[in-house]
Amino acid sequence: MKIHFDNSYIKLPKNFYTETNPTPVKNPELIVFNDKLADELGLTGIDSECLTALGVFSGNEITEGSEPIAMAYAGHQFGGFSPRLGDGRALLLGEFLSPKGVRYDFQLKGSGPTPWSRGGDGRSALGPVLREYLVSESMAKLGVPTTRALAAVTTGEELARNTLVAGGILTRISTGFVRVGTFQYFSSQGDLEGLKQLADYEIARHYPESKKAKNKYVAFFEAVVDAQAKLIAKWMSFGFIHGVMNTDNMSIAGETIDYGPCAFMDEFSHNRVYSSIDQNARYAYDNQPKIGQWNLIRLAETLLPLFVNNSNKEDENSEVSDVEAKAVVKVAEDILTNFSRIYHQYWLENMRKKLGLSEKNEADAELVNELLDLMESNKADFTLTFYYFSQNDALSQARTLFSKPEEFDAWADKWQSRRASETCTVAESRAIMQKVNPIYIPRNHQIEAAIRAAEDHNDFSVFHALHEVLENPFSLQKGKEKYLLPPKKDEIVHQTFCGT
Ligand code: AMP
Ligand code: MG
Repeated sequence: MKIHFDNSYIKLPKNFYTETNPTPVKNPELIVFNDKLADELGLTGIDSECLTALGVFSGNEITEGSEPIAMAYAGHQFGGFSPRLGDGRALLLGEFLSPKGVRYDFQLKGSGPTPWSRGGDGRSALGPVLREYLVSESMAKLGVPTTRALAAVTTGEELARNTLVAGGILTRISTGFVRVGTFQYFSSQGDLEGLKQLADYEIARHYPESKKAKNKYVAFFEAVVDAQAKLIAKWMSFGFIHGVMNTDNMSIAGETIDYGPCAFMDEFSHNRVYSSIDQNARYAYDNQPKIGQWNLIRLAETLLPLFVNNSNKEDENSEVSDVEAKAVVKVAEDILTNFSRIYHQYWLENMRKKLGLSEKNEADAELVNELLDLMESNKADFTLTFYYFSQNDALSQARTLFSKPEEFDAWADKWQSRRASETCTVAESRAIMQKVNPIYIPRNHQIEAAIRAAEDHNDFSVFHALHEVLENPFSLQKGKEKYLLPPKKDEIVHQTFCGT
């Protein structure tokens, strides 16, 4: 297997990472290899049959050009600050450039302890590996920015969790694993030079346009705010709950990262929580935009010294007056205040499409919110409601999902008259909806079934079947009805676990 590694993070100062090799595992076996992704990214030398590929995906072999490092970061976890987190069970094997010239991180998750493991074993149980594989790939197919899954293996070793469980390793690909927590790491140590180098690295890698602005750091911050607003608005439009929106799990590139106890909602509820560790519902569905903003405030705090001291001046050391400093802080504050507005715009844009609306009307947000409230009080399934909306017999199908159908009828009347006010035809409206209202999402009970079969019976067929359906979330697949249906009462998964 040949990957043309082209590593840049390792060229940053030594305190950005620790060089650590993966710890070999006993008896690795390939579960899945994402050959379509490999092709897309130009990883052409990889072949799932090849022994070396298995060596790389299990951490048993370090191929040429790979320089494994565990990245340093800090983070607010459930609101409390930890100055030292870092990759405790993940390793960056290196970076490569895709045929389009995009730089990608190539990472193993579950590859053994690093100096950042803080008592953990650095391993990952098979369950969370399968969950992340299914959910991250499904997110990609739904059009949500996300890390990708390239391969998953079993290790042939058991891990001590609540009971003994099988171990797994995920190979994941991202446009960059730097997090809000990475900035906090340098900021909390007062390492201004490190902070600046990190910001310059991220600007060059993800937001090069910022360099043209009067103050490149402010422009960079603004771009990150925009990317996060866009991302969270997408999550909300699919009923997705990340579950652990700690600052160390928020990517600067604006991708969904670190899938833990995440879940897609079945029955809609504004404050739905699945994660067993989120006892105060901090990361509940409706809180996600607020938490996004809270995390961005933490990012702004780290960037303040850069905002103030560097406005792309010729002489970076020239004195900044108090007035200038205050002005730039005010700009950053305005950007943060704007988060809600930007988020709301993205959200409404998504939700309009979900209702087949192509034009703007002031009352649209209210129309959407009324629907969501009704879905909650009527225990309607989120995904199925919107899927039925995009079908020929939309109303008669959708009303069956509501426990008081006459309440739905009253709302549907408003929706129909709003649609009638549009210039686009019913067929066009339906086409808009069919592009954004999926038929198949990775429902919790289906993921659970895939994990159970794998863990309890070493049977991966359930995983593969589910994965195949999720590859085409917007097209109806013959004989796959069970994947679009909500769980039966005894199948409902009420809680998800991060599985660390
Ligand atoms: P997470 O909740 O997965 O984002 O992890 C938070 C922090 O805990 C990160 O620094 C991880 O590297 C670390 N961590 C989580 N699980 C383990 C584990 N099994 N072994 C070592 N470190 C871990
Ligand atoms: Mg994490």
